[in-house]
Parts: sequence; C-alpha cells; structure tokens
Amino acid sequence: MYLIGGGRLITHDSSRPYIENGAVSVDGSSIVKVGTFEELSAEFPNSEFIDARGGIIMPGLINAHTHFYSYLGRGFAFPDYAPTTPYEALRDRSWKLDRNLSFYDCFYAAYAGALESIRCGVTTVFDHHAASGCGSGTLMAILGAVDECGLRACLSYEVSQRCGYKACCEGIVENEDFINYCESTPHERIKAMFGLHAPYTLTDFDFKDCVDRNGGRTGFHIHVSEISDDPCICMHAYGQRSVERLLTNDILGDKTIAAHCVHVTPREMDILAESGTFVVNNPQSNLSNAVGCSPVFEMLKHGIPVCLGTDGFTSDMLESAKSFICAQRSANSLPGSGVNEAAKLLFENNRLLASRYFDNGIGLLREGSPADIIILDHKPYAPIDESNYAGHLFFGANGHDCTMTMVGGRILMRDKKLLTVKEDKLRACLADSIAELWKKIKDRDDKPYEWSNPITSYR
Ligand SMILES: [Zn+2]
Repeated sequence: MYLIGGGRLITHDSSRPYIENGAVSVDGSSIVKVGTFEELSAEFPNSEFIDARGGIIMPGLINAHTHFYSYLGRGFAFPDYAPTTPYEALRDRSWKLDRNLSFYDCFYAAYAGALESIRCGVTTVFDHHAASGCGSGTLMAILGAVDECGLRACLSYEVSQRCGYKACCEGIVENEDFINYCESTPHERIKAMFGLHAPYTLTDFDFKDCVDRNGGRTGFHIHVSEISDDPCICMHAYGQRSVERLLTNDILGDKTIAAHCVHVTPREMDILAESGTFVVNNPQSNLSNAVGCSPVFEMLKHGIPVCLGTDGFTSDMLESAKSFICAQRSANSLPGSGVNEAAKLLFENNRLLASRYFDNGIGLLREGSPADIIILDHKPYAPIDESNYAGHLFFGANGHDCTMTMVGGRILMRDKKLLTVKEDKLRACLADSIAELWKKIKDRDDKPYEWSNPITSYR
C-alpha cells in the first residue's frame, strides 16, 4: 500500500474538490481512501509514504488526441522548402513523415511518446497512428511499447485513401485485427478504437466497410474539418459537409472522437451535440498549421463535450491548456475568458471520454477510482483553494513540474526518475531510427501521392 501526502490535494471530485493538507491511500491498482493527511496517516500507518513535499497531488492528466509517430519529426525541416497552405503543411510534412515510417520507427516512437507523457504527468493517451509503408502489425508494436512503459492508452490506425487503395484496405484490416485482439485478450490499460484519417480522404464505400467490420464494438477516432479543404471537398464530391457525411455514414456517437472541428457550421454543431460525439481541440497544432481557431466556446454552448489534446505537438497537457486559453481569448476578443472552459475540457470532458473506454472513476481522486496519480512540484505564492486551482495550474505550472507518475497503482516515475524503461538504451535506438527516417524523407524523390479521389478535380 502507498500513502501519498504532504501536499495540496486536487481531486476533481465535486463532493470534495480540494484538500489543503491532503492525502490519498492506494492499495493494488485502486484508490482506497482520500482525506486529510492526519486522518489517513493515522488509519494507514504501515503504508509506504510518498512525500509530495508541499507540492500538488492530483489525478493523472489525459491526452485525448495525439500521434506518437510525430515525435520523430521534431526538429526536421526541408532544406529548400516551406509549405504555404495548411493543406501543404499536412501533405508535405505530416503525411510524408508517416508514410516513410518503418516498423521499428513506430515501435520506438511509441516508447518516446509514452516516456514523454509519463514525464509530463499524462497517464492516459488516445493515440491515432498512421504508417502506410509498414504493412500490418504496427498497432501491436505500439501496444508492446506502451505496455512496457506502463501507460494507459487507447490505440487506433488512420484509414485513408491518401496513400492509395491498397494502403486503405490494409488500414481497415489493421484496425479490425487490433479490435479483435483487444476483445479476445482484454487488457486493463490498453483499449482499441477504429481509426479513420478524415472525411476528405475517405469514400462512402470506405466508411461502410469500416462500420461493417467494427460492428458497433468501439467508437471511431477521426480528424474532422481540421482544414477548410475538408468540408469543401466533401461538398464538391458528396453534396454534404464533413460532419453531415459522418452522420449519414454512421460514424458519430458517444464513443467517437472528432478531432479538431475548426470549420464547422451551427447545423454541424447541432449534429455533433445530438449524437454525443466528443470533439477534441488541439490548440498548438492548429496555431502551428495556421488552420484557424476552432469555435470551442460556441460548441460548448451547443452542449458538445469538447476535450483537449495535443495532436503530437507536445505531451504537456498544461501547456496545451495555456495555449487553448490564449488562442480562444485572441480569437473571441475576450481577454477574461478561457480558464473555466480549459478546466471543463481538460478535467471534466477528457475524463468523460476516458470513462467510455476505461474504468469508471478514472480522472478522479476518490475511493474506488483507478490509482492514476501525479505529484507536481508547484508551490504557488498566492492563495490557492478549490475556486482557483485551475488558474494556478494553467498559468503557474507545466507538465515538467511533475515529479511522480503512477498508473493503476504502479509507479512509473518517482523523484523524476523513470522506472519502467532504460532511457539511454532507447535514445541510442531512436537516434539511428530517426537518422534513417530523415534521410529517406530528404533524399528520395518522394512526391506526394495524389489519390484518385475528388481532391484532384476540386483543385
Ligand atoms: Zn491529429
């Protein structure tokens, strides 16, 4: 048993959201009790004590949308080329990276992403993978890496026509195989979704095939209207905007993730709200790719459960929350807004999404919840209580303040020391893997694949 105490406790549990000198008791994979340090240290005197040293004890953070493979692209730049539109940024950077990945790249990228997440106090990740040049089995490779690191993850593969029909079919089978595996071999920390790239790179026939093979077993994870080309191409080719097409093709629902939703109409917001679909905002990625600012305040007013992700830009959810606040304040000309909304996304809606796939109570410090707990070495000078802790975290802390990360009662990092993987060994493997990948991207005559779908005629 562990007793984690000696700090300020944030529980996100509405019955007792904040305890000034709090503690949490852990037995096995679950939380046994939450209370004051005095109460719990008297009740559990023989537990191993984990001292927060005046910092903040809180539930592990949840990343609702990321791509582990994008960690291999950090620092990469073409010598004589820079994209000039959001579409070019995706086509010539992100897609070029993912279609050149080797099987080992996928494996090591998942290790790197998992370790960085653990370092930033992220205990649950929804990963959206793509590697069209690898053939089958990459989701199993990611499972192996993530499982060894001890992270909690929901994995999926981006089905898309953007690398051709064969790769699209392989992507469908990759999802189906992985969902079958997760059904036959239940794992407490690893779950499956059915991944789709985006409406503008998928035909209605593809959607039908995916829906049939999924058979209602899990939700879909798809990019939606990240760039304005998406709804324009859908209108041009199918007479419906992106979200309308997803409704027609049975993709939406209360286990489905629609990442981005930057270019959506009020009618599409109604559809998303009525279907209970989760939208995931990725502020730094959207700013970086110059795709526009998602109308999150409007979507929240429509009753859409909007979550927060990083889209591979970072693993740090507190940095993502900061960027969300700044982007929304700027786009809405509302300098006093954003903190309550960021708290709703990160602490409430991400938890709701995670509870669709993992044990109920995830993301809360309360009796019976999974013991996903972090300690932040953050000691604010100004007063902190249940009314303002979100503002303290968003403006005063970041993920690298995390000193301890626990998932399901297992300590993955303690006093900033990673316990589950030998990082030096990983670095050596990654260095070779990334050098080879960058060489392929730079050297070979790797022209973008122009798939035989409506984008060619649209352009
Ligand atoms: Zn993404």
